[in-house]
Amino acid sequence: MLTSIPDEAANLPDHPEQIFHGTPVSRGIAFGPVQVIARGFSAPDVRPIQADQIGGEKERFEKAIAITQRQLAGLQDRIGDIAGAEEGLVFEAHSMVLDDPSLLKRVKESIETRKQNAEYCFYAVMQTFLEAMRRVSDPYLRERTIDIEDVCERVLRNFDTNKPAEETYGTDSPHLLVTYDLTPSDTASMDREKLLGFVTEAGSVNSHTAILARALGIPAIVSLGGAILDTTTLAPAILDGYTGKFIVYPSPETTRYYENLAKKRRLAREALESLRDQESTTRDGRHITLSANIEFTHELDLVNENRAEGVGLFRTEFFLLESSTPPTEPEQTEIYRELAKGTKGHLGIIRTLDSGGDKLATEELMEPEPNPFLGWRGIRVSLDRQNFFKEQLRAILRASADGKLGMMFPFISGLTEVYRCKELVHECMEELTAAGESYDPDLQIGAMIEIPSAALIADEIAKEVDFLSIGTNDLIQYTVAVDRINHRVAKHYRASHPSVIRLIKMTCDAAKRADIWTGVCGEMATDLTLTPLLVGLGVDELSVGPHELAPVRKALLSLDYAECRKLAKTALTLPTSREVYDISRAAAEAAYGDLFEDVIGG
Ligand code: PEP
Ligand code: MG
Repeated sequence: MLTSIPDEAANLPDHPEQIFHGTPVSRGIAFGPVQVIARGFSAPDVRPIQADQIGGEKERFEKAIAITQRQLAGLQDRIGDIAGAEEGLVFEAHSMVLDDPSLLKRVKESIETRKQNAEYCFYAVMQTFLEAMRRVSDPYLRERTIDIEDVCERVLRNFDTNKPAEETYGTDSPHLLVTYDLTPSDTASMDREKLLGFVTEAGSVNSHTAILARALGIPAIVSLGGAILDTTTLAPAILDGYTGKFIVYPSPETTRYYENLAKKRRLAREALESLRDQESTTRDGRHITLSANIEFTHELDLVNENRAEGVGLFRTEFFLLESSTPPTEPEQTEIYRELAKGTKGHLGIIRTLDSGGDKLATEELMEPEPNPFLGWRGIRVSLDRQNFFKEQLRAILRASADGKLGMMFPFISGLTEVYRCKELVHECMEELTAAGESYDPDLQIGAMIEIPSAALIADEIAKEVDFLSIGTNDLIQYTVAVDRINHRVAKHYRASHPSVIRLIKMTCDAAKRADIWTGVCGEMATDLTLTPLLVGLGVDELSVGPHELAPVRKALLSLDYAECRKLAKTALTLPTSREVYDISRAAAEAAYGDLFEDVIGG
């Protein structure tokens, strides 16, 4: 069903079906009206109009332009008086943008053809123009976009809004968002009821934005070039998060096809969910702990509904950094208590702050970092800001009195960092003891293995901790030197790269020798083509987004550990990613081919 496209919005002229292709990053099929939000300045709400309102809308547009021209002339005079005529000229340049007859003509034509309110048509025409400018190689022209954005904002403010109350459709109505890019915190703060799916021009599968979309179950496509320029707000559309197709003005046949497909996938999911009470144990009896990755404690309901055996990764950077004032130590303690109680006796692993990279920075930096992923990130920040770090450590420790908690440190590159983290944990324990506060003195402490230097000395690290958790998202990027958020090089990002699997094997073997366990909490754990390989390499735990628990459980139930061991042994002798991928995929298809067909879509 096309969701909530208002009847009057369907008065857009008849359009042939348009099909765009991007990279699918979060599975699901979503139907809805498009909202295009471009860069630079915010979109006004859009409102469909009737033919007899076209004249009035054109007048509103002319009025807004005339008011803006007067304001700019006034500003030119004022600044000219204060700072000299030359400084005032900048406003003359702004005003010239609005004198351009072709611009005025295009907006008026747009009001006629789109039959939408004047401010939205102005916004759409200007954004198309600005997007074209942002894509030119001339830096002078690119910089001028800021001036034009400024003028546009001003024009939008000058539209008279004294209109009879007619319904408008903004991002507070259900929609499919089409935008240039989203930050992880944009994605995290979106209203799941209203955001049916999103398409971005930038972005890549392994960015935190994509990870969050999967965690929140929002169908999404990234790297869809031209999406902003070529789609129209309020156009009906279908987003296919399985194949990366974005279909605008779908024909009735296409709509029927997707309605059937969505139903089939929903039924297959429901069938999978009926397995949720089964232990995640292979056919020949090897139990793999199946736990969940979460970013917010409200996800715990979903985690429990899907019977995860605890939380393998609680990313804390989103709630610690999303507001301008981070939560206080007591507030943090409360959040970790929710986790301690919410995992119902299972282990909940809190990862200490992992800021930087593509996530929010702990603090505003004086200069942008040239290579943020190689910069001030993860444990480096925590060890440089020990007061802040110790607040988090004490909060985790205090909460550990209320349930089974563990903690792990991100972005460990060497042993010294592990020693220092442990020293700080012990200092915090002593402080709590001195204050008469209780905590679990045996809480498990782990290190993330997500930098090759750590994997290569996993033997040493394993002696110091209670578990190792492999962060494959980063381990892959640092091993094959592929920026995980740069879509230009995305095709080189290979989870099945022989070097990556050797590092995973080294990590698992080191953990076994030290008699501790190894988990995988990166997205590779959700890739069903590679489950046979990971199981065979010897991982003890897979931690995946709450929506991925059901298919991964089914995969584990269908596999045979002894066969996976053999497969991994062969894989470790293969020279290319393709060969490794192919043998794992063949084993996966043999064991649970129906999942590829019905649930993950190919
Ligand atoms: C990882 O790198 O695999 C990981 C789990 O951490 P993040 O994605 O938050 O960097
Ligand atoms: Mg990481």
